Amino acid sequence: MGGRPFYNVTGPQADGVACVVCGADFLADKITAVAVGRNPVDDASVYACKEPCARQLAEDAERMAQEMRTAAGLDDADVPSERDDPVFCVDGHFGSLLRDLRTLAGTEALLSTSDDNTTLRFLLSLTARHAETAMMRARLVLARTKPDDADGGTDGDD
Ligand SMILES: [Zn+2]
Repeated sequence: MGGRPFYNVTGPQADGVACVVCGADFLADKITAVAVGRNPVDDASVYACKEPCARQLAEDAERMAQEMRTAAGLDDADVPSERDDPVFCVDGHFGSLLRDLRTLAGTEALLSTSDDNTTLRFLLSLTARHAETAMMRARLVLARTKPDDADGGTDGDD
């Protein structure tokens, strides 16, 4: 699996003989250990008790991934495309623009609390993508709206 970096891992934990979550000594206790990631210092695998520590890590990771998907609005369409049908429908783009902005606010919150390299990179790619689509959508909406005093509104609603 390779994967997830564990920072600030030292001593027995870095040697792979102690749980990186609870610190249990695999040599002294009868514990089933599973690799849960690696130490970025030397790229060696690090381990956790199969139960409950590894499961807890997996659940945390899944919850974080779900939070990021939700923050990113990845459950709905997120990038303008042909199937974003009335391509030039202002309301559609306005709604999508608001979603982009919510996503950016969500990634800001996550960025400020995350120190995991994989997570940071994921969040930064989300930020780049949504900032770009937000710009496009803002320009589309701008281009299709007029200043209030452009030509005396017929609906007089303001
Ligand atoms: Zn443990």
